[in-house]
Amino acid sequence: MASYFKRVFKPSIREYLYVIPGKKSFFGCLRLLWGLVKPYGVTYPDVVVVLTTHCSLKCAKCNNLMPCYKEPYHIPAAEVLRDIDILLSHTDNCIKLELLGGEPFVYPEINEVIDGVKKYKNVMCVAFTTNATVIPSDETLKKIASLKNKKVVISDYGVKTQKVEEFMKTCRKYGIPCARSVSKYWADPGGTECRNKSKEQLSIEYNKCYSARYCRTMLNGKVYACARSASLTDLGLMDGSHDSFDVRKKRSDREFRKGFRKFLTLDYADACNYCDHYLAKHIPAGEQLP
Ligand code: SF4
Repeated sequence: MASYFKRVFKPSIREYLYVIPGKKSFFGCLRLLWGLVKPYGVTYPDVVVVLTTHCSLKCAKCNNLMPCYKEPYHIPAAEVLRDIDILLSHTDNCIKLELLGGEPFVYPEINEVIDGVKKYKNVMCVAFTTNATVIPSDETLKKIASLKNKKVVISDYGVKTQKVEEFMKTCRKYGIPCARSVSKYWADPGGTECRNKSKEQLSIEYNKCYSARYCRTMLNGKVYACARSASLTDLGLMDGSHDSFDVRKKRSDREFRKGFRKFLTLDYADACNYCDHYLAKHIPAGEQLP
C-alpha cells in the first residue's frame, strides 16, 4: 500500500493552499488537519465528477477518450447527485469537487447539479473545467456566482472555436474567479491497447502521475484512480474493478471509510497499462479530429 502521506496528506495540503484564496482561517486549517489524521478520516484533494461524455471539441489525443464515444450520453442529474451525496456523506473534507464532462457547459442539467452541491459544508471549493466554446446562460452563471467558493478553469488550446476572452470577461462580470490554463503541449497518452507492463512498472508510473493524485474521477457511481481509467472502463476497453471504488455498494460508515482510504492509497492502477504518460512524449495540445 502506497504511503498515505505521499498520496493523500501532502496533495490535500497542496490543493487546500491552492484553491482556498487569501488568508486561511484557523478553523479551516484545523478541520483539514483533523480530517487527515483522525482514525478513519476521509479527506482527499480532488474528486472529478463526470456529468456527460458529450464534448464540443474533438481533440485527437484526449486523455479522457471523449472522441472514442460513438454514442455520447448525459448522466441524469438525479443520479449524479445521488452518487455525490453517498460519497460526501462519508467524507470529512473534499477540498475540490470538480464538475466536468466532456464539456460541462453542454450538460443540460448543470443548474440542477449546481443547486444540489451547494449545501455540502465539507466541500471546500466547487470547480468547473471548460474548453470555453459554450458561454453558459445567465441563470447558470448566477448559480455559479452564488457558490461560496468556486473556480472556473479554461483549458486554452488555441482552437478557433474557443471563446476564451469572452468567457473570461463574462466570468469577471459575474464575479466568478476564472483562470486560463494555456496548454501548447500535452503528454501523449497513446492508444487504448494494453501494453503488458509489469506490476512494478505500473506502480512506478502510477506513483509519479499527477492525475493519480488530483484527478480521481467519479463516473456512474464509481470513483476511479484517474479520468482515463474511468473512460477506459466505461468504454469497455479494460476491467476497472481494481482501479475503482463503488460508492453505491451498501456498507456501514466505518466500512466505507476503510475501503475508501484503501482506494486512495492504491499501489498501482491497471489503467497505466493503457497509457503512455510516463514516456512524456510531447504532442501539440488540442489538435482537432476532422
Ligand atoms: S492511466 Fe496512469 S499514467 Fe495515465 S493518467 Fe491515469 S494514472 Fe496517470
